[in-house]
Amino acid sequence: MKTETKKVLITGSSGGIGKITAETLLNAGYQVFKTGSRELKEKNYFSADLSSLENVKKLYNYVKENFGDIDILINNAGQYLYSPIEKTDIKETEKIFNINFLSHYYLTSLIVPYMKDNGFGRIINISSISGVVGEANASLYSSTKSAFFGFTKSLALELAQYNITVNSISPGWVETNLAENALNEEEKKETIDIIPQKRFVEPVEIANLVKYLISNEAKGLTGQNINLCAGLSCGC
Ligand code: NAD
Repeated sequence: MKTETKKVLITGSSGGIGKITAETLLNAGYQVFKTGSRELKEKNYFSADLSSLENVKKLYNYVKENFGDIDILINNAGQYLYSPIEKTDIKETEKIFNINFLSHYYLTSLIVPYMKDNGFGRIINISSISGVVGEANASLYSSTKSAFFGFTKSLALELAQYNITVNSISPGWVETNLAENALNEEEKKETIDIIPQKRFVEPVEIANLVKYLISNEAKGLTGQNINLCAGLSCGC
């Protein structure tokens, strides 16, 4: 199948990493459908709050009817939560788990039957370094991100025979609204100090890795997680 005919769905693509990934893949000739929590008047865009699994089904139905079947799924939407465990509202756990993990589990389950029938598929899960090494006061966020690792490996095994690859990318701190809202100026400086490369990752670095992982060149790469984190996960 040629790149131009491949259809990509990227969750959380109204801003940040997802938006830049959408632009990168459009420039590379893919057909891209975007979704996010914000209302945007754009072609091939649908706004849906993924904290509700009913909305995942609505998103899927809309995409299928208005854009077609999906060859490549980028599970990217996510929210960060910095909160000591005793201060975390228990209702938040369900919401954050839905947005960061269960919505993607469900969306993937709706899309995989077409990929299997078609004998091709690429699934990328955007996890986080917080899911790889843990992060104090972010145990809920970290748990939702770790969930992607079991999902990625198990699904990679389940779908390997259908020419479907499943991988995850774990970014360290990336220059987006999520990072800006999580850290004040002083905290950002302190954070940069402990990152080996002394910088945040640029969203386009994640986008370019996505582009590689969905390419034919990466067809043998499946069930893997890649830490794109400016060295943050290596230790200190
Ligand atoms: P961002 O805040 O810039 O963008 C988040 C995207 O997710 C937006 O499009 C937003 O609409 C969407 N989203 C958020 N809540 C949603 C909801 N309830 N329903 C539907 N969509 C929703 O954040 P980002 O930095 O681009 O994050 C993208 C992914 O990368 C997230 O999964 C995040 O956990 C992960 N990540 C980010 C960083 C970082 O430092 N920025 C680090 C590691 C992992």
